[in-house]
Amino acid sequence: MHLRELTNLPTPDFAFDPNVPGACVTGVRPYREGTFRLNSERVSGRFIVHNYGHGGAGISLSWGCAAKVKDMVSQFLAVSPQTEVAVLGAGVMGLTAATMLLDLGLKVKIFADRKPVDTTSFKAGGQWAVSVVETAMNEQDLKAIIKTSYTTFKDSIGKGFGVSERPNYCLKPADGLDMVLNLLPCLMPARQRLDRLPFQNHTQPGFLYQTLLIEPPIFLPRLECDLKARGVTFVDKRFATKADIFATVPQKIIVNCTGMGAKKLWNDTKLVGVRGYLAMLPAQPNLQYLYSRNGYMFPRSDHVVIGGTTDWDKEDEDLNPAECKKLVNVIAAAFGQAAPVPMPMNHIDDPRNRRLVDPRLSVSD
Ligand SMILES: Cc1cc2nc3c(=O)[nH]c(=O)nc-3n(C[C@H](O)[C@H](O)[C@H](O)COP(=O)(O)OP(=O)(O)OC[C@H]3O[C@@H](n4cnc5c(N)ncnc54)[C@H](O)[C@@H]3O)c2cc1C
Repeated sequence: MHLRELTNLPTPDFAFDPNVPGACVTGVRPYREGTFRLNSERVSGRFIVHNYGHGGAGISLSWGCAAKVKDMVSQFLAVSPQTEVAVLGAGVMGLTAATMLLDLGLKVKIFADRKPVDTTSFKAGGQWAVSVVETAMNEQDLKAIIKTSYTTFKDSIGKGFGVSERPNYCLKPADGLDMVLNLLPCLMPARQRLDRLPFQNHTQPGFLYQTLLIEPPIFLPRLECDLKARGVTFVDKRFATKADIFATVPQKIIVNCTGMGAKKLWNDTKLVGVRGYLAMLPAQPNLQYLYSRNGYMFPRSDHVVIGGTTDWDKEDEDLNPAECKKLVNVIAAAFGQAAPVPMPMNHIDDPRNRRLVDPRLSVSD
């Protein structure tokens, strides 16, 4: 695409007070070395299905993983008929798994110490992309998970789940989208090279992707509401140990969607916390694009979300208004709206995150 074809898209208003309540958010991505865990085991007479460790891609992979959970439970039911299932965790993995398990005719009970609105899932930025996650698994299974997830989200556009199609303008190739384009070339529109990104103060070449935006503050409450309407009960419970789970949960089938909680409960040393800060600017409905450069900006209906930091091996959720302000300034500087600032910490475009993507999966134009 040539320079003359591109007119500038609206410039965001970067006014931001990090001390306003709710302006700064901290979340911890449940990253698992090798791959997220999606398998089953039998322990103490129970059939356990594990579904955790999706790093920075839990929202994106949720429906596909839920479909696999349903398959595993369905196979177990064929040899051991049951009427009930317990789901541990009320984040996106627990809620989507519970939704699909209802289709097997099971009575579903969800146990969690955080309600959906208090989970990491609720904090996610919401781009559909397979980012900050390792996927060393059978390629056919991975393709099926990605395809089911993407198509389920796409089919839910306009149905009150907070899903919409969005262009994402990126200064550098987006690994988490290139990986999908390479594995499943027909799933989503191909990326385009641009002579420059169509924004004020931008002169460098870049890339344009067409992806989905999933707004967790709409998506999760909608799932919760639908589950309750279908008879699912939510139990407020914190499990201290695996033994505590078996002592408390009577169901023979247990689906474990405890995210970072699985590290202690299942003694999973492969789980690593990857902390991210998000700055929540007031909503700006005139911005209908996503933007990525030393971090990202996702304009949603509740806020313009600026984020993209990745602090490895960090699990605390302490707020950090100073770092959130820096995040905003980094993006604002790119638009000529603030003095240039060096990126203060690791972020999604850092080389360390590139090891997460199989180099064979890079896309050529
Ligand atoms: C800053 C940030 C931005 C992100 N952006 C995106 C994005 O744009 N796109 C995307 O796809 N993903 C994104 N993610 C990743 C996504 O948020 C996670 O992968 C996803 O939330 C994981 O979901 P989960 O259900 O496994 O975990 P959680 O949402 O953390 O839910 C875990 C559930 O388990 C329960 N639990 C845990 N331990 C216990 C226990 N001991 N006892 C009882 N209950 C327990 C909790 O109460 C909770 O209900 C982002 C993450 C962060 C932090």
